Amino acid sequence: MMEMWSAQHAPPDFVVEVPDSPMLRKTNQREAIRRALVESGRPLSPQEIVQAAHTHAPGVGIATVYRTLKRFTEEGWLVAIELPGESPRYELAGKSHHHHFACQSCGSVFELPACAVALERLLPAGFELDEHEIVLYGRCPDCSNKRPKPGRGDRKR
Ligand SMILES: [Zn+2]
Ligand SMILES: [Zn+2]
Repeated sequence: MMEMWSAQHAPPDFVVEVPDSPMLRKTNQREAIRRALVESGRPLSPQEIVQAAHTHAPGVGIATVYRTLKRFTEEGWLVAIELPGESPRYELAGKSHHHHFACQSCGSVFELPACAVALERLLPAGFELDEHEIVLYGRCPDCSNKRPKPGRGDRKR
């Protein structure tokens, strides 16, 4: 009798525990989105959040992600990172001044720990600098180590 309920034979209801209370479901999805952002260690796009949140709460949709991101941003613990020509990425608020690196191969965005550039030196006489935006582009370690081999399409993400 027990063997009948092995993983591949179990009916879906036994595998995935879906809370039936809408309130609980909402809380779980919110928590899944929060954990996805905390655990990623880098800024995530809404699409990436959908994928990452799925491991904690299956069935989190893009509309829920957008709604929750708006809420988290209003609550002040999340900030949107705007990159030119890109959909916004989201990262935890309250970090000190830093910049971002965008991988041109996989599209992932990473945090750079600081800003070490003396930009004032670029300014001609009489100019005053208020702020700056810097984005570095290149390939992340995963992509720069990747030697494309014909016939092998095993991508990890
Ligand atoms: Zn990459
Ligand atoms: Zn800077």
